[in-house]
Amino acid sequence: MAAEDVSPGVHFIRAIIEADIRAGKNGGRVHTRFPPEPNGYLHIGHAKSICLNFGLAAEYKGLCNLRFDDTNPGKEDVEYVDSIMADVRWLGFDWAERLYYASDYFEKLYEFALHLIRAGKAYVCNLTAEQMREYRGTLTECGINSPCRERAPEESLDLFQRMRAGEFADGAYVLRAKIDMASPNVNMRDPVLYRIRRESHHRTGDRWCIYPMYDYTHPISDAIEGITHSICTLEFEDHRPFYDWVLNNLPVPCHPQQIEFARLNLNYTVMSKRKLLELVDKAFVRGWDDPRLPTLAGLRRRGYTPEAIRAFAEAVGVAKRESMVDMALLEHCLREDLNKRARRAMAVLRPLKVVITNYPEGKVEDLDAENNPEDPAAGTRQLPFAREIYIEEDDFREEPPKKFFRLSPGKEIRLKHAYYIRCHEVVKDAQGRITELRCTYDPESRGGWTKDGRKVLGTSHWVSVAHAVDAEVRLYDKLLSVPDPAADKEGKDFKEFLNPVSLEIVKGCKIEPGLAAAAPGERFQFLRQGYFCADVDSTPDIPVFNRSVTLRDTWARIEKTQQDK
Ligand code: ATP
Ligand code: MG
Repeated sequence: MAAEDVSPGVHFIRAIIEADIRAGKNGGRVHTRFPPEPNGYLHIGHAKSICLNFGLAAEYKGLCNLRFDDTNPGKEDVEYVDSIMADVRWLGFDWAERLYYASDYFEKLYEFALHLIRAGKAYVCNLTAEQMREYRGTLTECGINSPCRERAPEESLDLFQRMRAGEFADGAYVLRAKIDMASPNVNMRDPVLYRIRRESHHRTGDRWCIYPMYDYTHPISDAIEGITHSICTLEFEDHRPFYDWVLNNLPVPCHPQQIEFARLNLNYTVMSKRKLLELVDKAFVRGWDDPRLPTLAGLRRRGYTPEAIRAFAEAVGVAKRESMVDMALLEHCLREDLNKRARRAMAVLRPLKVVITNYPEGKVEDLDAENNPEDPAAGTRQLPFAREIYIEEDDFREEPPKKFFRLSPGKEIRLKHAYYIRCHEVVKDAQGRITELRCTYDPESRGGWTKDGRKVLGTSHWVSVAHAVDAEVRLYDKLLSVPDPAADKEGKDFKEFLNPVSLEIVKGCKIEPGLAAAAPGERFQFLRQGYFCADVDSTPDIPVFNRSVTLRDTWARIEKTQQDK
């Protein structure tokens, strides 16, 4: 059995770790790290990596560090550092006192660079960026040695120290590893270790004008922290020889093992930080926490729970092959979670007024309604019922098509937790639009059934006109209108595929009175509509709700058709 074909429960990384523990490698220790670059907000792909790194550490009684890979001043920012910490905590993981920054190692990284130079394994090079590209060769052609390659170590040492001292202009020199310009792996063709960049760093300020490259920094940071398993995504597979070269040529305390897995790709969305940043910067969305984005901040605002995201991360598994995961799976995980715990509520998004002509004027009844049929402990609440109510516009058709079991002239439906009503008259305005229905109710049907056991197929949600609260509801749809814009042959920009109706704002919704006090982040199932989450934009006058996910479970359907095959 190939490692990548094992079932999600025992994926190949678990297999490697278990074999290492059995063999007594690293004294049986498991120590991982999650190493984000603070140049954007975390997204659902990062969540997979977080769950994997922190999850494996917890599983094998090990440790997981949070380390900011902050070697790229200019693009990095404390706003991102703060949001990343908040998101990791929100997902349910704890790095305890093990918060690290690659920038804390700048001095050590510099010392190690001196070590490489003295050992004749690194040299200062003054080729221009363009020359470097030319000299590097291609996948099929060897590179050419730089004329600086044989520079004496003493001279490189002097130049490198002066690079640090700020004697040279940006780009005038770089420090390069001396490996092999003929290597079939281009990453081994004397890669750059340091460049001169006069850019303020969010932590070290202007202390440095040379900055180490990521590929050089990462293995050393791992080794300093005593990492045992350095888990990263597949694009680093070709960088592993250099990762090992660095550790083999320096007096580091240990040699972590780099293990690569396939990154998570989700359809109908974008996950590259560059693209997300562009959507935010150019105001295609309302910010990093726009509920349409796959960022953790966006998903949280949309109503996603940490539990749902962790379940999703486990469900997608860990593989060595790239694949595209269906958004329907993520939504399925959220429904599974919210079904168990979201309080049910009545919300009429597009209200149609109903007057119950045989219900006494001025009378109000408090009807019992269960808060969650999946959880009796959630208890019940009281819903006020009166002569005038709102139902959903869609729940009425003047000329019902076949199999329309909702309300239509002469027909009867059940009002959830209330009574049966029958429609007798349709009232319209001068333009012919329906403004009101006049119905009667059956007083014997309180609670939603009658002794005669007559069949009433349709059940509608409703709210009392006098008691309802006005609300705004934001309905979200896919961010992109195609599953995979990268697959587009014409090479169009991804923004051309933005779904123009990814956000629909519905105002004048009518919600049950108890919802008015919902705190931002509180989640509900609006009966027959989906799961919703109170938004931070709510005001005391107008609560705002985000639709987290509809009730229709397309993933369950996909699974079923797969089983039927
Ligand atoms: P981008 O390529 O979008 O700029 P990145 O992947 O370089 O982002 P980092 O901050 O370097 O972002 O990522 C931190 C960690 O999260 C890395 O170990 C990276 O491999 C992992 N990661 C990033 N994206 C994904 C993904 N889609 N699936 C799984 N892991 C991911
Ligand atoms: Mg990265």
